[in-house]
Amino acid sequence: MIYLDNAATTIPFDGVVRKMEEFFTEKYFNPSALYAPAVNVHKEVEETRKYILSAVGGKGKVYFTSCATESNAWVYNCGVKNKKGNIVVSMGEHASGYENAIALSNKGIDVRFVRLCADGRVDLDDFTAKVDSDTGFVSVIHCSNETGAINDIKLLAKRTKEINPKALFHSDGVQAFGKIAVNCDKMLMDMYSMSAHKIGGPKGVGALWVRDGLHLNAFLPGGGQENGMRSGTENVAGIAGFGEALKQYLSIDSKNISQLREILKRCLLSVDGIEVNESEIQSPYILSLSIRGIKAEVLQRMLCERGILIGLGSACSSKLKKNRVLFAMGRSMPHIEGNIRISFGFQNLYDDMEYVAKTIKETVKELREHTGR
Ligand code: PLP
Repeated sequence: MIYLDNAATTIPFDGVVRKMEEFFTEKYFNPSALYAPAVNVHKEVEETRKYILSAVGGKGKVYFTSCATESNAWVYNCGVKNKKGNIVVSMGEHASGYENAIALSNKGIDVRFVRLCADGRVDLDDFTAKVDSDTGFVSVIHCSNETGAINDIKLLAKRTKEINPKALFHSDGVQAFGKIAVNCDKMLMDMYSMSAHKIGGPKGVGALWVRDGLHLNAFLPGGGQENGMRSGTENVAGIAGFGEALKQYLSIDSKNISQLREILKRCLLSVDGIEVNESEIQSPYILSLSIRGIKAEVLQRMLCERGILIGLGSACSSKLKKNRVLFAMGRSMPHIEGNIRISFGFQNLYDDMEYVAKTIKETVKELREHTGR
């Protein structure tokens, strides 16, 4: 099986699984308990917190959550204190941000959605027109989970603060964290969401970075864990696995990933009616392709039967008929219907790319012959 849906989730590193096992066997203690073995577990959680903080620049605070969906929900629902003002959100957000924005809009809050350019990045002119002195909160995804387009977060945060220094700037960093260098403080952000399972870590653990001095409302009141901000006994195995995954992911040479993407892209460009959805500043981990005259779900199923697993845009919203993000990029319905997302990980091999390209080409040909398109 060739797994090419790494933007949906990644295969956990062996070292991550081993590290997590320790917390189900000898280190099962509740980190809030006061006896020595529990204190040691608590120390490991705090060391991981420091390590994750160091990976996003070292300043500020990191809170552990159950996933990035939770981090985003926290930011939208408890972090956004100035709900009297307007909220500015890009059309390119992942569903875990976008749906919160829709819910706030349904409650009567002035939510302004920023257009995307044809390359998937936020339209800077539209952004500048929508942020104003009443804007309380802005959220822009760092790297698109659909196309891999990378937004210039520092520029957007700077622009926001120039217009309204009090506006809070959040970015969903799930597809960027561990893959693209990030310094949250220097990039002028107030909050940044992360997830472990996109970087070879376990599912069910995420984090939220928060700027020093910014006080968010607590997300889960209770026993006072996470400095009283997000109660609930810590997922110690998950947190330890998150730290271990980051360590291993940071050692991956992204040049190799870029080469995988280039090889596959080059081989597939000869397919008639294929278009690459990419931007000038692009994540090498994602290759979004639209193939004219095919239904992406059918191609996905046939490739699965032939040992290749690919994605269809966001796994969380793959059941939606329309790809909202491609639509916002101005793509036509046939383009959207034939959209596939190939995403790379550390386990992918150059030698497999030729087979993948050949199989995609043959399958597309078969599908077209069958449907006469
Ligand atoms: N944000 C982005 C950009 C994502 O790609 C995803 C997952 O696909 C999420 C948020 C949600 O992450 P999690 O699965 O940790 O809730």
